[in-house]
Amino acid sequence: MSISVMLRDLPATQVIIHHPELKTGTDQKIPSALLLQVTREVLNIWRRRIREGEVKEVDLDKIIKDVKARIEHTLNFHLKEVINGTGIILHTNLGRAVLPDEAIDHMTKVAGGYCNLEYNIELGSRGSRHDIVENIIKTLTGAEAAMVVNNNAAAVFLILREIAKGREVIVSRGEIIEIGGSFRVSEIMSESGAILREVGTTNKTHKIDYEKAIGAQTALLMKVHTSNFCVSGFTQAISVEELAGLGKQYDIPVYEDLGSGVLYDLRKHGIGREPIIQESIKDGADIVSFSGDKLLGGPQAGIIVGKKKWIDRMKKNQLARMLRVDKVTLAALEATLRLYLDPAKAKQSIPALRSILQPVEELQERAERFRALLPEYDIELCQMDTEVGGGSLPDVTLPTVVAVLRHSHLPAHILEKKLRIGSPSIIGRISKDQFLLDFRTIEEKNIDRLAQHVKQRVPENAPKLKEAAVE
Ligand SMILES: *Cc1c(COP(=O)(O)O)cnc(C)c1O
Repeated sequence: MSISVMLRDLPATQVIIHHPELKTGTDQKIPSALLLQVTREVLNIWRRRIREGEVKEVDLDKIIKDVKARIEHTLNFHLKEVINGTGIILHTNLGRAVLPDEAIDHMTKVAGGYCNLEYNIELGSRGSRHDIVENIIKTLTGAEAAMVVNNNAAAVFLILREIAKGREVIVSRGEIIEIGGSFRVSEIMSESGAILREVGTTNKTHKIDYEKAIGAQTALLMKVHTSNFCVSGFTQAISVEELAGLGKQYDIPVYEDLGSGVLYDLRKHGIGREPIIQESIKDGADIVSFSGDKLLGGPQAGIIVGKKKWIDRMKKNQLARMLRVDKVTLAALEATLRLYLDPAKAKQSIPALRSILQPVEELQERAERFRALLPEYDIELCQMDTEVGGGSLPDVTLPTVVAVLRHSHLPAHILEKKLRIGSPSIIGRISKDQFLLDFRTIEEKNIDRLAQHVKQRVPENAPKLKEAAVE
């Protein structure tokens, strides 16, 4: 059929809008503005495909199907639940830390009504949102003062801007790092208006390197925790303590960007070498910043702690207003921080810590339960190592148990896709042409659902004939 004939044969917008399939086919009533918009979009796509020769004939049923699929897509939630079978506990693409129940309960309560976000209940007058978590952060870290902003990148920016705009910040060359998702120390520095003064070399920086760079222009000595990689071999970096000594000697503040934000010492379980915030403060850092949703295991936030003199200045900066967190974040953060008052409670109740510390024997039991729920499938359980992720604990691998799920007639990439697309989305990983689900990140409460969705989405009893229709 010729292109012009096909273009002429395309149904009118009105025909589609009043098509019975679109009235009754979906259980939700389709908003008419949406139906009109989607119909126009689909017709445009059809016109283009006709002109480009991709379409051989106009098919009203197919057009209606396209309209329906697009409407369904628009009406679905776009931020969706995922069952994380990657094994990466702090997966930046999958929302990093899973919040503790205590945080979820408190967020819900605070969000569903009014709250004293900026109201001092004792005085009956205006209060400050900074007061909500400042005391508990001080208690937990030993710092003189604290404040919270939107994330740690914002914290770094605010600190540099307030303390070092137009002046120099001395940083070791080995610490000019990039964290996934385009956070670069050098770029944040230039955006903030501070001038980066690199010292030392990639693998070695000595105290004398910092000392030689100090001058009238120096505003800050900065140390960046290399959260997502480690340099090994012939290396040398100076400690916070030494840097703080230099800072005192020359009357220059010392700032450490600690990245992950560890309040619970994982080293006592033999996991990693991540310094805890308390140490950085004790060793004399004037300012320390870290994320709320990495190893701390709370909501996305950037926490700044340190000497009151500096924190007070930052609170007054106009940027603090732009970078401030909302009541829901504060609710989640306060509830998470409270758990740290009792470390035994923290490691039980905070999912990020719980997942990191979970013994491999428990993962094995979980995986076996999963396998037992799917007797008709070919599932092999293996032990291997996974990473924590989220730019945390770079040199640590945790032993884990994975289920290698094989299907009688679906290849790994099809299995992967069929489990990924759907609600909840189930994300595993493919390794050597095998589909794997890692039980370090699949919580006990999700095992039954997971098995059910596997049965539904990739049934093992499906007749072989359907194979062609799989994609
Ligand atoms: C992760 C990280 C950041 C960025 O923190 P966000 O909370 O993701 O904004 C900054 N610095 C270091 C050292 C980090 O590890």
